[in-house]
Amino acid sequence: MSFDLACTNCGETYDNSEYRTTCQSCNGFLRIRYDTPSVASKRINSKLTGMARYLPMLPLSNSHNLVTMGEGNTPIVSLSRIGQILGINSIHAKLEYMNPTGAFKDRGNAIQVSVLKETGVDKIAEIGGGNTGHSLAAYCAKAGITFAAFAFESNENRKVQTIMQAGAEMHWVNGNRQDAVNAMKIFCSQSGTLNLSYHLNTYFIEGNKTIAYEIAEQMRSIPDHIIVPVGNGSLLLGMLWGFEEMLQDGRIERIPSLHAVQSLAFQPLVAAFHKKEWSPDLSSQSTVAIGIKIANPPRLDELIEACRGTGGRPVTVSDDEIIKWQGHLNRLEGLFVEPTSATVLAAAERLVYDGTIRSDQKILFPLTGFGFKEPMPSITN
Ligand SMILES: [Zn+2]
Repeated sequence: MSFDLACTNCGETYDNSEYRTTCQSCNGFLRIRYDTPSVASKRINSKLTGMARYLPMLPLSNSHNLVTMGEGNTPIVSLSRIGQILGINSIHAKLEYMNPTGAFKDRGNAIQVSVLKETGVDKIAEIGGGNTGHSLAAYCAKAGITFAAFAFESNENRKVQTIMQAGAEMHWVNGNRQDAVNAMKIFCSQSGTLNLSYHLNTYFIEGNKTIAYEIAEQMRSIPDHIIVPVGNGSLLLGMLWGFEEMLQDGRIERIPSLHAVQSLAFQPLVAAFHKKEWSPDLSSQSTVAIGIKIANPPRLDELIEACRGTGGRPVTVSDDEIIKWQGHLNRLEGLFVEPTSATVLAAAERLVYDGTIRSDQKILFPLTGFGFKEPMPSITN
């Protein structure tokens, strides 16, 4: 498979022989450019599992370098009882927490780690404390790549414990995320270790775009609205890139409206979209939606355009709403997700209430992370 990388800022191009985070000339973001002229050459191999199904759409030269644990191909289920409460006829969830490590992150990491293997990288550093770190530790273990994990969370955090058990080289940092990032930068420059920066590189988002391909394969018609939790926004952009490719190839006729949801405490996208003042509440208890607790998403402009260009809208939800919907989802549909994942239900309620989503339209949201990795919420009725 032939592809190169192009800078979205200055246009500089690079071949695929090296792992690249950003543009060497201007530090801009890179995008993969595939040299595949026809849809026929980009056939989905439905007999295969995991990322192997979508290899012609992914940035790997040799399929033998694919590091896969059966990620993807997650089920889509109808939420009819939730639909009754919201007054929506068609509401579906894609159970992304059924990926190997219990979160959608396995899609991006499968591809990111495969590219590391293909380009001969044997050690990386990244923040390790959440679903991304847990997933990364698993794929690095599978690939035999050393993962230097910079942890600022307590070792009582279940995700951290899993990262440790997967054999990561732990680096404990006293302080917050920024302190961990600073310590990691010093370590990388002194040791020559690759600072992975999954939120900056293009490979992670390329893996996430497979969710859009699956939605198109699994559903009789494309949903009208998709609601996505947004921290760095790699899932929202993965969705967009996948749908854009399919639109270009003529596989689909339209792109769904992509709505983003953030917490009241961390709403950089909502604030920028609506041009309002905002500063983050950096206290440790500021939100239960810890998976989207990101103050400065690097691709903010792309996220605004992803919503605006598809007729979507970013919204905020409160912790009370999140906890309420986490409980409703379990009680009415039997699905138990982490609070970050329940944000989409709270957002759906708001978007229906304000008329953005009509009762005859079709909604889908990914349920991104399994509930058991975090402490049980207090029980509400
Ligand atoms: Zn550049």
